[in-house]
Amino acid sequence: MFTSLSDRLTSTFKNLRTKGRLSESDVNRTVRDIRMALLDADVALPVVKEFTHAVRERALGAEVSQALNPAQQVVKIVNEELVAILGGATRTIRFAKTGPTVIMLAGLQGAGKTTLAGKLAHWLKEQGHTPMLVAADLQRPNAVTQLQVVGERAGVPVYAPEQGNVGGHDAVGPTGEGTRSFGDPVAVSRDGIREAVSKQHDVVIVDTAGRLAVDTDLMRQAGDIRAAIDPDEVLFVIDAMIGQAAVETAEAFLEGVDFTGVVLSKLDGDARGGAALSVAGITGRPIMFASTGEGVRDFEVFHPDRMASRILD
Ligand code: GDP
Repeated sequence: MFTSLSDRLTSTFKNLRTKGRLSESDVNRTVRDIRMALLDADVALPVVKEFTHAVRERALGAEVSQALNPAQQVVKIVNEELVAILGGATRTIRFAKTGPTVIMLAGLQGAGKTTLAGKLAHWLKEQGHTPMLVAADLQRPNAVTQLQVVGERAGVPVYAPEQGNVGGHDAVGPTGEGTRSFGDPVAVSRDGIREAVSKQHDVVIVDTAGRLAVDTDLMRQAGDIRAAIDPDEVLFVIDAMIGQAAVETAEAFLEGVDFTGVVLSKLDGDARGGAALSVAGITGRPIMFASTGEGVRDFEVFHPDRMASRILD
């Protein structure tokens, strides 16, 4: 990821390296190059505008350093602005002071929520926590089975409704695909948390339903679950390959479930990186984790500063 953006910025800065002094037109040209590189990497326009504005102001401003030449100064500014847009300081789960820490997962279908549930549980377990997973994606019967498989792989228990006896009803999504809901996800989430309390798990991860596109039913359901379980963290999982649709999707989920953090999935793919820069920039929510493959260990804490350095390497 970010390879092309990284190459573009590197060559932009190379042009500056020989300069002893930067004129206003040098700065303008550089900012224009940065703008094009960001747009080509699928970064959302409002984020690009804010970013380039900040870089230009600072590069033209009176930030004089004894230690750095003007070109290095620009690289430093770009680096700092990238870190800021990616969320600033590294931030991960804030644990509840009492009772289990409840983490709710939300995102479109196929974003990587269920896979992430296993990775997150595994990561928490390695740090000495005792997580439990709750299968509240009841739109697709397969989702429950999938979470059970994921839980087994991560070595963590999964709370799931018993299929077939919870008063199911048929539902048809706006995309036209028929789905059978076989229970009340709000009740299942609540029961799951109760179970976690009684079994003394210190973290509960609630997997919720996704759809192929944002729709009001899905959002209402996710919002209802959020209201019922009052989670400590709501993680919005987004496929890094989503491109320009990142902004619209993230805004809809921000409004629907007011997520507290972002997880970028499929960072192992050849995404151009725009989603990463756009989502944090637009929503102001930090990117907490990155998913980098299908295995339970393909998961890392997201460090904005390291990602910025990688982009500018
Ligand atoms: P959900 O519908 O949001 O629960 O998404 P899933 O967890 O079922 O993931 C959808 C597909 O993406 C599955 O085939 C996963 O194996 C795959 N997947 C999830 N995360 C990653 C990732 O970080 N990298 C890659 N390459 N594939 C992933």
